[in-house]
Amino acid sequence: MTYRDTAHTNGYEFTQGAGYALPEYPFVEPPELRDGRRAHHPIVIVGAGITGLTLACSLARLGVPAVLVDEDNTVGVKGASSRGICYTQKSLEIFDRLGIYERIAAKGIRWSVGRTFAGEDEVYRFDLRDQGGFGLSAQPPFINIQQFYIEGFLVERILELGQVDIRWKNRLVAFEQDDRVATLTLETPAGRYTMQADHVIDATGSASPLRKWLQVPFDSKRGDDRWCIADVRFGTRPPLERHTWIEAPFNENRAVWQHLMADDVWRIDYQMAPDSDPAYVSREDVVRERLERQFGRGVDVDIVWVGPYAYRSECVHAMRQQRVFFMGDSAKIVSPFGARGGNTGVADADNLAWKLAAVLRGQAGPALLESYQDERLEAARENVRVTNRTARFLRPADGVERRFREAAIALAKRHAFARPLINTGRMAVANAYHQSRVCDDSPGSGESTQNVALRWLDGRVGRLNDLLGWAGTDLLLLVFGPLASTERRRVRALAASAPLRAVQVLDRRAAPQAMEAVRDPAGHLRQTTAAPAGGWALVRPDGYVAATGPAVDTDLVRSVARALALEEQTA
Ligand SMILES: Cc1cc2nc3c(=O)[nH]c(=O)nc-3n(C[C@H](O)[C@H](O)[C@H](O)COP(=O)(O)OP(=O)(O)OC[C@H]3O[C@@H](n4cnc5c(N)ncnc54)[C@H](O)[C@@H]3O)c2cc1C
Repeated sequence: MTYRDTAHTNGYEFTQGAGYALPEYPFVEPPELRDGRRAHHPIVIVGAGITGLTLACSLARLGVPAVLVDEDNTVGVKGASSRGICYTQKSLEIFDRLGIYERIAAKGIRWSVGRTFAGEDEVYRFDLRDQGGFGLSAQPPFINIQQFYIEGFLVERILELGQVDIRWKNRLVAFEQDDRVATLTLETPAGRYTMQADHVIDATGSASPLRKWLQVPFDSKRGDDRWCIADVRFGTRPPLERHTWIEAPFNENRAVWQHLMADDVWRIDYQMAPDSDPAYVSREDVVRERLERQFGRGVDVDIVWVGPYAYRSECVHAMRQQRVFFMGDSAKIVSPFGARGGNTGVADADNLAWKLAAVLRGQAGPALLESYQDERLEAARENVRVTNRTARFLRPADGVERRFREAAIALAKRHAFARPLINTGRMAVANAYHQSRVCDDSPGSGESTQNVALRWLDGRVGRLNDLLGWAGTDLLLLVFGPLASTERRRVRALAASAPLRAVQVLDRRAAPQAMEAVRDPAGHLRQTTAAPAGGWALVRPDGYVAATGPAVDTDLVRSVARALALEEQTA
């Protein structure tokens, strides 16, 4: 048996261990089958993985109805374990807006220190708390939690919010689209039916059937790097840090990853020989021997789950084809190093949700939907580029790549300056948008904000996410400092004519001027939006800065039109 046969996608194969008990959701006969009518829906999302569920939950929060179908009736991968484990600050901020952050924080594990070893030597160390501005957000740099818990919380939240009809055990088996409509055929335990949709979101993951049927062009790369995960529980906990070994003496000098997740389960991920047999490397006695080599003879350990995997990287050439938007693993697949897979699926969903809502409500021009492709394709390409570089460091080709790695490790053992060359994964960050038709070249435009603290006028602490939640699908205009009466009139006129909520941001003492106001005593709002002193920042519902400017003038009106793709309509 070869890895290519058993684990050739970025998925898992269940091999050993008790696995996890995953929730099962009921199949309900769809109304189309029950009443025999042909339904037309504005939005159908195919695939209830972390990406499709985030989109569904975001739409539900914005009050937009949608249908979400999945061929399965559970979260995670049935009979197996969690794929994703690390969730970034940006994802956690999105989950905070969706109302599930508290559940994630209560279940997950916070971490910030990462250490990399080559043999016995530490060759790289980071503390994410030291990186600029991480501490400004209410959310920590990372939380480790099994992916299926997040998916389960999203399902709960969607059910709480209403709006989205989740249909389990509905498999998409055929699809066609034209200028007028998309038609989906679904297979269910009660039979086959069709439904029509204006917009279809392909969130079916790395084996997307839609991508095949629509013959979507994509780039693909597959190497011979092989891994085997052991999810385990220890009698005695190792330190609560992310440890990686670029060369682990206890794993034939190959790489090893060690992370804690929820339920006191540790993920130990071992790099294997390129020609290894996946059935052999995941046999329980072989896994135990590997664990003993690392943690000592007789180590007190329960095996929760074992799975061999390989990975490939892929990226579509376009994120949209007519009525279909590709997101998450259906748009791009990356190696797991750096936690860029699920986290960027969440960001794809957050990016499209408010745009769909704004366009469907007639608040924005249809070209706003094209900016999904501008922004998220740029992000996908960047994430593929960064993770491919890590993959090449971990499994270098013979020749220059291998010599570079050997030189980097040798230098890093002795000199601090060489340590950043050690690449065991560049952890995911919020991607910036430089090529978006709805951003401009003002400072901060296309950059993500953080969920920084502010003060309400009564002195209580609030957060930027509170303001974004209040604005809903509207843009949030933050105007900093006192305003002349003409400026006040302009802001009021703009808010009355565009989908925009305006808030005056004051220092510690200044009096509010007959409009919504908050205080920014530490300057965090201005810092995170990059707004000039006494100027303004236009923040989108996904927390990205659309534009900033020094004065309430025509440029602000232009920026609002551009951010909502209304320019082309009015030109
Ligand atoms: C070992 C490993 C570790 C990883 N670690 C991390 C990490 O730490 N952090 C991180 O962010 N990411 C990580 N990832 C990546 C992450 O798991 C994926 O990027 C993520 O699962 C993609 O989510 P998705 O919703 O796009 O696709 P999926 O999770 O694959 O979901 C697709 C859904 O579509 C459904 N579906 C498929 N076909 C049909 C059909 N025809 N009809 C109806 N439904 C259908 C499936 O049932 C499934 O529910 C890791 C991956 C691996 C393999």
